[in-house]
Amino acid sequence: MNCFNHQDIPAVCACGTCAKGLCQNCMQPCSGKFVCSEVCAENWEKLAKMNEKALKIYGLDKPGNKPSKIGSRAALFNISLGLLFLGFGIYDFFYGVGYYGLGLYSVFLSAIGLASIVYGYKTYKDGIRL
Ligand SMILES: [Zn+2]
Ligand SMILES: [Zn+2]
Repeated sequence: MNCFNHQDIPAVCACGTCAKGLCQNCMQPCSGKFVCSEVCAENWEKLAKMNEKALKIYGLDKPGNKPSKIGSRAALFNISLGLLFLGFGIYDFFYGVGYYGLGLYSVFLSAIGLASIVYGYKTYKDGIRL
């Protein structure tokens, strides 16, 4: 790969934001990386902040935290949602007339609930890998 700005000079590194090849004259150091321009330096900082936030949200900002936490959190969400729908379904079956008559609505709600619970369990079991 040659430098993006100087097509005849071999690149020694790549911009940390846009991945353009850069020669020694074009590379600019930026928080442990090299970037090609001011714009990319700004974008890099934005990206770094965004990733930091994401790591915190998913509990990965401290060493030793396992990505499986994401799985169990997503699973908890899906299972709670599933139980809620299932609850609505059962409630509608016994007390409601159902919007579609003959309790079809309650069957529909329960199906969504069950699917969500199964999906939640699967998420919990497999986890989400980063
Ligand atoms: Zn760049
Ligand atoms: Zn160059």
